[in-house]
Amino acid sequence: MSETNLKDMAELVSLCKRRGFIFQSSEVYGGLQSCWDYGPLGVELKNNLKQTWWKSMTLRDDVVGVDASIFMHPTVWKASGHVDGFNDPMIDCKSCKERYREDKIDPTQPCPKCGAKDSFTEARDFNLMFKTHFGPVEDSSAIVYMRPETAQGIFVNFLNVQTTMRKKLPFGICQIGKAFRNEITPGNFIFRTREFEQMEMQYFCKPGTQKDFMEKWKEIRYQWHIENGLRPEKLRWHPHGPDELAHYADAAMDIEYEFPHGWGEMEGIHSRTDFDLKQHQEFSGKKLEYVDQEDGNKKYIPYVVETSVGCDRSLLAILCDAYRLENEGDKENERTVLRLHPKLAPIKVAVLPLVKKEKLDVPARQLFEDLQKDYKAEYDTAGSIGKRYRRQDEIGTPFCITFDFDSLEDNAVTIRNRDSMVQERVAIDKVKDYLKDKLKF
Ligand code: ATP
Repeated sequence: MSETNLKDMAELVSLCKRRGFIFQSSEVYGGLQSCWDYGPLGVELKNNLKQTWWKSMTLRDDVVGVDASIFMHPTVWKASGHVDGFNDPMIDCKSCKERYREDKIDPTQPCPKCGAKDSFTEARDFNLMFKTHFGPVEDSSAIVYMRPETAQGIFVNFLNVQTTMRKKLPFGICQIGKAFRNEITPGNFIFRTREFEQMEMQYFCKPGTQKDFMEKWKEIRYQWHIENGLRPEKLRWHPHGPDELAHYADAAMDIEYEFPHGWGEMEGIHSRTDFDLKQHQEFSGKKLEYVDQEDGNKKYIPYVVETSVGCDRSLLAILCDAYRLENEGDKENERTVLRLHPKLAPIKVAVLPLVKKEKLDVPARQLFEDLQKDYKAEYDTAGSIGKRYRRQDEIGTPFCITFDFDSLEDNAVTIRNRDSMVQERVAIDKVKDYLKDKLKF
């Protein structure tokens, strides 16, 4: 058997559309650039991914969750530095008017779109925050921003959470939510979009201990990606050099994945010092200090280690990594398979009666309805059994159960494994135990 990895993002975009994972937004109107809609299978996959992250963060006694609103007081973004400093350098091609992020291309080279030489404008700063108006009056006093990161919703709730949950340092607050950035050059499918979801955690600790917690969280976060099934050889660390380090950070490391278009950041782990809380204390005039009862009631502003992973970007890495084309060119045996980790697979099991006959349909449906109580399952009678297997392979379903004429006699079914394609005969009353054993995570 031969197998190849995903070579080109277009193959994945096509599979995602064909199989109901991800559609272009507003497609019937010609689409909206870089906006994507998750279809029925995409949303299952995304929810499963969010679940694994949420569980890994909150099933421990030192991290709690919040769900803060997207709109925040506009001064939040003054204090955080986003109003004045959340800029990317933008350049335009004077010939074809294409716009680029100056740090993502070489401006001494010809324009990648039209090939014109020496045609770039000087770089200008472009603020990435979306502005909108709050309430019925559209004047400057009503301007609010769509949050460009979820982190600030955590910082401004630091004391609310610490006091109500009676938390002692060190502890973390985590959140999953939408973020918006008016990116200059979105693209590469869901890698860079203007609306996306982040899964962030801020870990508050005593000043001086941040290095240790940075190391600890680096390890935990790397492991999470491995446990989602990503191949280690496709992951690498990228430490931020002094010129890349954000103004608020004293250390930062990215976890990068090798996408078909090259290595790209998937998650950032940042030691953000006490910058954000200090700023909010100054701009709000409210004390945001922690009283350390274990250190003589000393008051101080905690330091913060942040872990910030893009939900859509990590989902993209998972799809790219899981994609395999087997036996390319061999008509009989060629198949595309998504080798998704079973905990992430949108459909866990499919029940397929061998042929569409009432004799098989009634008991097969009964089995399906029984399994559906515990698992996201599918029942499919359309087309040949081979075609139905191929469809389940392409959407990453770990197990297919075939109900055939022998099943009526021996009360057993055939369970086919997605990856090995090995088929096992299992008694119908043992199917649940079989799946329970294979799908425990
Ligand atoms: P980049 O350098 O790619 O613009 P960043 O360093 O600005 O990313 P962070 O601000 O650290 O990114 O955001 C944390 C995570 O949020 C990123 O690692 C990424 O997974 C995700 N993310 C950021 N911007 C986008 C975007 N425009 N589309 C999708 N995901 C994004």
